[in-house]
Parts: sequence; structure tokens; C-alpha cells
Amino acid sequence: MELNLLTFLYLIASITFIVGLKMLSHPATARNGNRVAAIGMTLAILGTIFLYEEDGARLGNYVWIFGGILIGTITGTLAAKRVKMTAMPEMVSLFNGMGGACAALISLVEFDHLAHMDPMMAGVLLMSAGGASAVKGFLLIIVLGLIIGSVSFAGSIIAWGKLNGSIKDFSFKGQHIFNILLLAVIVVLAVYLIVFLPANAVLIFYTIFFLSLLYGIFFVFPIGGADMPVVISLLNSFTGVAAACGGFLYDNKVMLTGGILVGAAGTLLTILMCKAMNRSLTNVLIGSFGGSSVGVSSAGAVGTHKEISLSDTAVLMSYASKVYIVPGYGLAVAQAQHACHELEKLLTSKGVDVKYAIHPVAGRMPGHMNVLLAEADVSYEKLLEMEQANEEFSTTDVVLILGANDVVNPAAKSDPASPIYGMPILDVELAKHVIVNKRSMKPGYAGIENELFFRPKTSMLFGDAKKVLQDLVAEIKNL
Ligand code: NDP
Repeated sequence: MELNLLTFLYLIASITFIVGLKMLSHPATARNGNRVAAIGMTLAILGTIFLYEEDGARLGNYVWIFGGILIGTITGTLAAKRVKMTAMPEMVSLFNGMGGACAALISLVEFDHLAHMDPMMAGVLLMSAGGASAVKGFLLIIVLGLIIGSVSFAGSIIAWGKLNGSIKDFSFKGQHIFNILLLAVIVVLAVYLIVFLPANAVLIFYTIFFLSLLYGIFFVFPIGGADMPVVISLLNSFTGVAAACGGFLYDNKVMLTGGILVGAAGTLLTILMCKAMNRSLTNVLIGSFGGSSVGVSSAGAVGTHKEISLSDTAVLMSYASKVYIVPGYGLAVAQAQHACHELEKLLTSKGVDVKYAIHPVAGRMPGHMNVLLAEADVSYEKLLEMEQANEEFSTTDVVLILGANDVVNPAAKSDPASPIYGMPILDVELAKHVIVNKRSMKPGYAGIENELFFRPKTSMLFGDAKKVLQDLVAEIKNL
């Protein structure tokens, strides 16, 4: 009876995951989608704790289980509440790393059970019909979970450190070959362990564990900043697959469904990100691309820039009929989303058609700008994706770029030597006037000059985005 109730709870939870994921695909339903999936997860966890039985016994160990849940809940809630919008990708990476660590720990514990099985029982099992294949199958899942979970854990921690600046890019000559060899050694050892069940299995297992951690580190180390979103998304899909391995091990359907969903969603996002940043997946997998691009200068980015005053900007924008705002990382740094919405409402009240052009990798994580603007209650209908926006720019009077740089850099189209060459960009130059707000002429994340700032149609409006927007709103009100 209880087993049936548990199966039913798992089914409900699996459905909530799918529904929640679907709801996440639109900003208007995303928050509730998260809630729906969280309720499903809570049901699955409580069901497992109180209803799961093995050999007629419940899990027990409630102090340990709830102690762990309490620590995790407090840490997770505090971290999520305190995190700055600009540090969100780091947190995603760290949380993802924890998922990978959990999957690897499950494999370590289950291998320990297997290795310390009563020799008599192990003998009987191996001699029984299909017994050896069952053990090998079990071991295969354990080893897969170990490798993928460890790579995901180590890689995510390096990605976290690189994003918050505590770990610098590191690469050496031949790293590409080294990574492939390391992966090959891991695979060979894993096959040897599973197929031959050797006497030194414990040593081989822990060697695989150690090498997988090493691979995770070397896999992420050399990757340059501009390619980070692809890596984080890929590591996220790894964690999903590693969790699915845990589902196989415990014959736990909800863990399997959850893991597969995370794995599939992460893979799809990786592919979308690759397209958005013009990187091939093979390149990502062998960890050979990028490297630090900081300090690279784009050819042709020479000349002088011209500045525009606040009052001229106010006049230009107030008398325009169509204005596009391009938000970027600087908007998040300045926490200027509310001031930006204020400007949008003011211009709209003056009859200006105001919309936002959102580049898929503007900011520091997928969807960064959507989340930021949603926080300031900007209507979702006003956010246009890159393809739509690019069709609109030729009929736009003013494009106001707020703390964005790489995502509007024409070098991505014109300079094959540029590290961002091939990345689709917002074609802001098609508009009549381009106003760029940033604090200085310093480069953005990719560390390269931006020729756009020197083009005849472009004017620079220097200053912190929040302050500039507040002053601009005041100026327009005074017109
Ligand atoms: P960029 O990092 O290219 O540029 C941001 C600009 O904002 C800087 O040039 C900076 O100039 C300016 N800025 C910083 N602080 C302020 C402030 N307080 N007020 C006004 N301006 C400010 O950002 P983009 O959004 O254009 O591009 C994102 C980059 O990040 C891309 O290269 C992308 O590949 C990468 N990336 C994206 C991820 C994602 O998933 N979205 C994840 C990781 C990386 P100044 O210092 O002169 O003010």
C-alpha cells in the first residue's frame, strides 16, 4: 500500500518537474514554474524519507537526514537571498558543483558497499545465473556516476573561482592533447574495472575518481571568459546525467526523471549557447578553445570618440518616435534596472515607442537581462530577442546602450582575428543614432576594443548607468 503511495508521489513529482520546466520557458510563468517543481521535489523527498522501505525497514537516521536538510536549506536560502545579480552565474556554478559532488558521493558509498560485501554472498552472486552481469551493470552505473559527477564537481568549482576572479585562466602547451589522453586513461581504467572485476578494484576505482577530478579541473582551466556560459551549461547537463545514474542505482524513478530532465535541458541550453556564441560543441568538449582574451585589441578600433551631453540626449530621446534600449552587464553592476524602467515609462508617456533589445549572452548568464528587467516590473512584451530586434533597428531613431559592450561589437562580424568573431551581435548601427552609456572607454568582458564607439553615428554618454539614467529622467521631465 505504502509502496504504491510512494510510486504515486514519484509520479506526481515527475509531472511537476515537467510542468515546472515548461513554465520556466516564459518569464511571466517562470517563478510559479519554480514553485511547482519545488513542491514536487519536496513531496519526493518526504515520500522517500517516510515511505521508502528496504527489506521491510524504513530509512531511519532521521537526525542525520533532517540535520543535513536543515544545514542545506539555511545555507541555500541565505546564499540565494544575498547573492548580487552580477554574482548569479557564480552561484549557479557552485550549486551545480554540489549536485555533481552528491552524485560522486553516491558512487563512492555504493562502491564501498559492493567492495565490502560478504565474500560468501559475493561468491554466490557471481556464480549465479546472470549474477556477474548484474554486478557489472551495477558497477557500470557506479563508475559512470563517479566520473561524470567528479568532472562536474571539479569543473564547476573552477568555473566558480574563475567567475569571481579568485582563479585565473591557466593553460600550457599541449593541454589539448593532455586532456584527451587523461580522458582516454579514465575510460580505459573504467572498462578494465567493469569487464575484469580485478583484485585491485578498489585502487583502480579511486584512481578513476582522482583522475576524473583532475580532468574536471583541466577541462575548465584554459577556457576563456567569453565562453563560460557554454561550460556552465554543459557541466549542468553532466550533473543531470550523474544524478540519473543515482536513479538507476537506487531504482528511484523520480531521481531518474529529474536527472534526465536536467541532463536534457542542460544539453539543449549548451547547444543554444554554442549557437549564440558561435562555438562548436566539440571545441567545448575538449576544452581547447578560448584562453584568456583579456587585453586583445580588435584591429581597426582606432580614431576618436565623441561625447553627448545629458540635455542633448534628453532632447534626442524625447522627440524620437522609436527608441531601443540595449541592456548589458554594466546595467546589472549599476543596479540601474528601476531607473531604466522609469525612463521607459516617461518616454512612453510622451508617445515614444520604447522597447528593449536582449542579446542571449548579455550580462553574465543566460537570461540575465530578462531576470534583471523583470525585477523592475518591465513588461515582457517590451523585451525583444536579438533576431526580432535586428529587424527593427533600421527603423529606430535612437538606440541607448546601457553598460553593454561585447554584444554590440561589430568586430564579431568584421574582424576574423577577433576572439568574438562569429558571435551574432545586435546590429545597433542600423539605427539613426547610437548612444552608449558606460563609465570609460575600457573594454568589456572579452577584453577587446569596440569599434562601434568610434563610428560617426555613435555618441558616448559617460557615467554610472544608474546616476546617468536618474539624471536623464530629471532632464526629460524639465523639458
Ligand atoms: P560587457 O562585459 O561586454 O560590457 C559591460 C560594460 O559595462 C563594460 O564595458 C563596462 O564599461 C560597463 N559598465 C560596468 N559597470 C558599469 C556601470 N556601473 N555603469 C555603466 N556601465 C558600466 O557586457 P555585455 O553585456 O555587452 O556582454 C556580456 C559579455 O559577457 C559577453 O562577452 C559574453 O560572452 C560574456 N558572458 C556572458 C555570459 C552569459 O551567459 N550571459 C556568461 C559569462 C560571460 P566601463 O568599465 O567603461 O564602465
